[in-house]
Amino acid sequence: MQSLWDDDEAAQCRGDLELRVYTSRLLGRDKTLVLHGGGNTSVKVVQQNLFGEDESVLYIKGSGWDLETMEAAGFAPVQLDYLLRLTQLDALSDTQMVNQLATHMLTSSAPAPSVETILHACLPHKFVDHTHADAVLAISNTPDGERRMRELYGDAVVIIPYVMPGFDLARLCAREYPRQAGANTIGMVLLRHGLFSFGDSARQSYERMIDLVARAEDYLKRERAWDVPARAVSPARIDMLQQAQLRRTLSVAAGAPMIMATHADAEALAFAQRADLGTLSQQGPVTPDHIIRTKRVPMLGTDAHAYARGYQAYFDEHAPRAKEPKTMLDPAPRVVLDPGFGLAAAGRSAKDAAIVAELYRHSMQVMQRAQALGGYCALPARDLFEVEYWDLEQAKLRKTGTPAPFLGEIALVTGAASGIGRACVDALLARGAAVVGLDINPAVETIYRRRDFLGLRCDLTGEHAIGLALERAVLAYGGLDMLVLNAGIFAASRKISELATEEWRKVMAINLDANLFLLRACHPLLKLAPGGGRVVVIGSKNVPAPGPGAAAYSASKAALNQLARVAALEWGADGIRINSIHPNAVFDTGIWTDEVLAQRAKHYGLTVDEYKTNNVLKTEVRSRDVAELAAEMCGPLFAKTTAAQVPVDGGNERVI
Ligand code: ZN
Repeated sequence: MQSLWDDDEAAQCRGDLELRVYTSRLLGRDKTLVLHGGGNTSVKVVQQNLFGEDESVLYIKGSGWDLETMEAAGFAPVQLDYLLRLTQLDALSDTQMVNQLATHMLTSSAPAPSVETILHACLPHKFVDHTHADAVLAISNTPDGERRMRELYGDAVVIIPYVMPGFDLARLCAREYPRQAGANTIGMVLLRHGLFSFGDSARQSYERMIDLVARAEDYLKRERAWDVPARAVSPARIDMLQQAQLRRTLSVAAGAPMIMATHADAEALAFAQRADLGTLSQQGPVTPDHIIRTKRVPMLGTDAHAYARGYQAYFDEHAPRAKEPKTMLDPAPRVVLDPGFGLAAAGRSAKDAAIVAELYRHSMQVMQRAQALGGYCALPARDLFEVEYWDLEQAKLRKTGTPAPFLGEIALVTGAASGIGRACVDALLARGAAVVGLDINPAVETIYRRRDFLGLRCDLTGEHAIGLALERAVLAYGGLDMLVLNAGIFAASRKISELATEEWRKVMAINLDANLFLLRACHPLLKLAPGGGRVVVIGSKNVPAPGPGAAAYSASKAALNQLARVAALEWGADGIRINSIHPNAVFDTGIWTDEVLAQRAKHYGLTVDEYKTNNVLKTEVRSRDVAELAAEMCGPLFAKTTAAQVPVDGGNERVI
């Protein structure tokens, strides 16, 4: 561990707060120090109020901010003298504390101050840095962690026993710090929680943190507890349906659909294949922050097949009866370990699942190093539930985001790189789904760079290619809930007398056969969808009203329409519904260039605008219109509808 301080960068900072931002970002850059909003920093300054009076202010990291991307606006200014008065109280509930912090800020629009604000206030140093450094946790989370900490740091640190973060911890530190601190003190260890450093300057406080953590890393190396096992037996193949079944079970336990990502890399497999996995993984988290950030108790099953029984038993044993059950977070584990597939990480969104996986990777290292040192020793189980019920966390949960009806669900869209397919991707992402987009155009792989989108190049006429794409989708997200059959081609106008067999076969292969392959391959996955499987078929106006010169296209879409109707009959008992949309004259797609549009309009003696709106309602039909209906067909509005065929064509006289 090395200091990342750079004199030139630091020289750009004006004032204490900007320096505070700078070294906060330096801390945030090292993921072994802080992860996903974990850790916090502060600076104490004296500033003038409107009356020209000096006022002491604590600038403390606000909740919802990550140290790595910290800005001045992410710090909440709180009246320091008032915070110090609070430490004299005997007790302060979490709700009261949140209220006191919020009502003693100097900027009404500032983020909520960290739950560790009072703790920062009572440390008598200008700059304070706090991390949950992996190396420190690996040493402190052992049966004789306190002795090891004293041996390692001597009088350089104050040592505080484990108390759940909140007012009681702040008060304990306010009492213990002056009692233990001496001339050599540069930091404070909170056992099984993390590390504080402090100093007169931003650089001093930051570099003391780096120094203390580096000493912990050296200690682990010296004690031969640094390297963790990395050799694993690679599974021959991970069973896609087994993973989808696991995700279903997790979703049912959670009471809502979950995204589940499978991590079968050597690091995850080596951990899942440890002989002592049962005891090591079942103890609990390495620091309270690792529960708080995931907002869940990571109850761990060690075996995909037995885990369901396991966590139920754990819950029966540990669930606090006295508490109101309604406030309890769902009991589903967020991490499942299995020697066969490694690590499965679950969350309500792809982002949550990724955060769970990253947190757990750090936990795995800490647990294994602690185990090598003298035995891993987690937080007491009782505290897990205290954190879970923690008022502050409940308050945060209540505030979360915009409605997303498909949160936790996975959709697959074919022909996703452009036109209606691309619009379907957007409509589904906007509703919270994780989306797998398939297209023969490799551009699909890069249309979005976000956790909830996986673009895969795939030639849908190959059954093997479809199978591989589905496997990747299941490993990434855990299963399949929605399928949008959109990919298709529209060949050049050709009379039947001139229609080449090859051309007919090509249109059939893409517009019809590929959809059979997809439906057949997706059926077992859709059957496992926790909220019921849904299929939307993008048909065509040509199904009810075929056009001359489009024999192959019209026939292929009509056959697809029949295929969908039969699927609706066969799959209803599996809870899968399948509905069709018949769009017409959607011109904002790749096929219709301005030139082609102008030609076609001229052919009919119309202007381009007249041609685009040549329907009963005189309205233009766009890709987005089709996509929004496709997404709604997957939602509750169509929950009781299957085998419906809905036109999106502005009204067509031949259909009406
Ligand atoms: Zn902390």
